Amino acid sequence: MFEDRRPPGEYGSADLPVRPALRHELNPDGTLTVHPPQHCPRRHAVTDSGTFSWVAALRLHSLLCHRCRDDGHADHQWALIDPAYEQTDAEEATGAGLELVAVPPDEAAGPGRIELHLDGHPVGAATLAVCTADRLGVLEHVQVDGQVRRRGYGRVLALAAFSRLDWFTDVPDWMRGDHRVRALRAVQRGVGYRWTTTLIEDTPEARGFAEWLPLPKVGEPRYCQHMLDAAARLTP
Ligand SMILES: [Zn+2]
Ligand SMILES: [Zn+2]
Repeated sequence: MFEDRRPPGEYGSADLPVRPALRHELNPDGTLTVHPPQHCPRRHAVTDSGTFSWVAALRLHSLLCHRCRDDGHADHQWALIDPAYEQTDAEEATGAGLELVAVPPDEAAGPGRIELHLDGHPVGAATLAVCTADRLGVLEHVQVDGQVRRRGYGRVLALAAFSRLDWFTDVPDWMRGDHRVRALRAVQRGVGYRWTTTLIEDTPEARGFAEWLPLPKVGEPRYCQHMLDAAARLTP
């Protein structure tokens, strides 16, 4: 599906915007199906005018829309990521390209972190608390470094957080699937979680982000007792 057609000199930029437009589906038999986007953000059909390629600098696939490019749009190529599937942990991070690195909390309902690394250096992070008992999640903060803004990193981090429903996906070693497949299983188990978020700062950029968030409203976090207890144990 992602055949490698690379016109020389056209790809490889590390500052491409990133779209969370890739989706991995876990089939009942344990195999994965990859769903690439069908359209560019301007709704041009990929079958007519899109080219998938590999961006070595980010270690991600990308979509180039020839119609957007021919129409003179500066943004006509986007790196693609599946924020639910393409997460790793600190031990398994490669330190190359763009990586979502999950940093679990010390205890289950405590505040954990998903960092976005560019060549091994953190450039943004989402902090969140999830409770599997109450099926609640609170997205507490999304931060992206100033020099890498306007690349869609904040959205990728928020969606990575919303897919993170279980920090500790302990399963027997013999179970089929790597840790990312186990994370997908957690996503499936997590259908029906309720997510809330803390107040978003009052800047035009932050307001736009808040409007985009797939939540009924922002600024009214709903913590359960497990989260409050875990947070209280953190502060001596
Ligand atoms: Zn297009
Ligand atoms: Zn709870």
